[in-house]
Amino acid sequence: MAVESTLPTPVRTPASDKDAKALQFIEEMTKNADSVQERVLREILGRNAETEYLKRFSLNGATDRETFKSRIPVVTYEDIQPEIQRIANGDKSPIFSVHPISEFLTSSGTSAGERKLMPTIHEELDRRQLLYSLLMPVMNLYVPGLDKGKGLHFLFVKAETKTPGGLLARPVLTSYYNSDHFKTRPYDPFNVYTSPNEAILCVDSFQSMYAQMLCGLIMRDEVLRVGAVFASGLLRAIHFLQNNWKQLAHDIATGALNPKITDAPVRECMRKILKPNPELAQLVTMECYEENWECIIKRIWPRTKYLDVIVTGAMAQYIPTLEYYSGGLPMACTMYASSECYFGLNLNPMCKPSEVTYTIMPNMAYFEFLPHGSSTSCLVDLADVEVGKEYELILTTYAGLCRYRVGDILRVTGFHNAAPQFRFIRRKNVLLSIESDKTDEAELQNAIENASLLLKEFNTSVVEYTSYADTKQIPGHYVIYWELLVKDSAIAPTDDVLNRCCLQMEESLNSVYRQSRVADNSIGPLEIRVVENGTFEELMDYAISRGASINQYKVPRCVSFTPIMELLNSRVVSKHFSPDLPHWTPERRR
Ligand code: AMP
Repeated sequence: MAVESTLPTPVRTPASDKDAKALQFIEEMTKNADSVQERVLREILGRNAETEYLKRFSLNGATDRETFKSRIPVVTYEDIQPEIQRIANGDKSPIFSVHPISEFLTSSGTSAGERKLMPTIHEELDRRQLLYSLLMPVMNLYVPGLDKGKGLHFLFVKAETKTPGGLLARPVLTSYYNSDHFKTRPYDPFNVYTSPNEAILCVDSFQSMYAQMLCGLIMRDEVLRVGAVFASGLLRAIHFLQNNWKQLAHDIATGALNPKITDAPVRECMRKILKPNPELAQLVTMECYEENWECIIKRIWPRTKYLDVIVTGAMAQYIPTLEYYSGGLPMACTMYASSECYFGLNLNPMCKPSEVTYTIMPNMAYFEFLPHGSSTSCLVDLADVEVGKEYELILTTYAGLCRYRVGDILRVTGFHNAAPQFRFIRRKNVLLSIESDKTDEAELQNAIENASLLLKEFNTSVVEYTSYADTKQIPGHYVIYWELLVKDSAIAPTDDVLNRCCLQMEESLNSVYRQSRVADNSIGPLEIRVVENGTFEELMDYAISRGASINQYKVPRCVSFTPIMELLNSRVVSKHFSPDLPHWTPERRR
């Protein structure tokens, strides 16, 4: 269907005094971007002067940019991992920060197969809350009347663990939703969720989703915006509705909660919300009964003005599917954030996804930018980046990360006052991603090597491979194309062996992938498609016919270009799926 986004016209006056203050704050920060950055660096270096890390580089209490830049090296996670491990093991001395490390935030980026551990301090919660508090005031400029209803936002927490030294390790959103900043947030008529805290804070992903969806259905007439943090999460919610609408409609019709919901706080809060409503149950049944799910969001929640969901970066692959389910509702990407730091917000949230730019808020941390492809001696400051150029983001945080490479590549598109605005281009070294998983080339290669060990006894080897993130169905899954060399066709690997190869690959992938497979069910079983002999040579011929050099040709390890996909798919001789779930527990392997 043709999708035309009907973007509301900005009303452009603050919706309340509180909004006016927030917008004023954004103006002040962005007008004074450089001096704010100078102050932030001074504060960070001043308070952390006595830390082991800064003393190691003989900063001697200096807080100016020049000394900082000349003495402190640019680092990756691996460079500081020994110190991080010491903190995880219980060393409470001021290594990175004089403020005690309150917990570790587990990033979706991995190191040696495990989530990276980002040390944080308690006051960082205030900074995160501050950035959140700016989002609705900006949105209210564009979409009036958001105080006349609620947001159906699917928000989730994940399992927590403790490090050997006893610190909590959990994802940043799990930390935030469990904080008083979130749980006891003051009432704001512009930011009311249909999901009760009890449902959001339930660790069981099925029960949490079930309760949130049920509340969304019960309050359907009040819902003005539908969202999740990332596009993949919202699609997962729609898929959940597809699988569970009968039971949900039954609960609504009878007023009795599904017995599978056993979490006591969730049951208790649903007792107050769920009342028999046969009329609503019938409506849900009527809408969900049909095979056709086009526009389902608008049909079930007819007052929805926009989708609140990030569709930039790796999430862009979901835009067509979301357009299909929402009937072309605008998609608002409101913020750009990470475990290390919340960076900034989109000041024009109702723009098209392809035009989204994020304005980094200079008060959040000290930011530097490495021109893409340059050496680490050429870093530039936030206020000095140039329009049109691409940079890697480098971060110095209040929690003590110093000149840390985040791994995101951003392009400057313009300025808001003196603060640059960035388009998210990509995350470095990510080959495959379905949701928060990020699989790089080395991990894929390692997984292929491990799986191909199973082929040895069949005198078979993998001669070439490539991969594809298939997100046409929900949940999406990894597809690996294999060209095999079967040296003795009498003992060629059976279906069962190739299925086990799929599982073996999954076992070799990082913990974020395995958690998504096992705990969240947000990635489907990995698939191997065996292609005819000679397929990869054809692929090379095709690339050369399009101008690639024979000398320099390398097999792409991930593909998405339609003609290449068509070629590969037309040569498939067999398809195999992982027969089981890989192993995953919240505990870290190392
Ligand atoms: P994590 O530390 O696991 O929360 O992941 C943070 C990473 O997610 C960032 O460094 C980005 O690569 C990505 N990310 C976060 N927000 C956005 C956004 N608005 N658009 C695109 N990518 C994003």
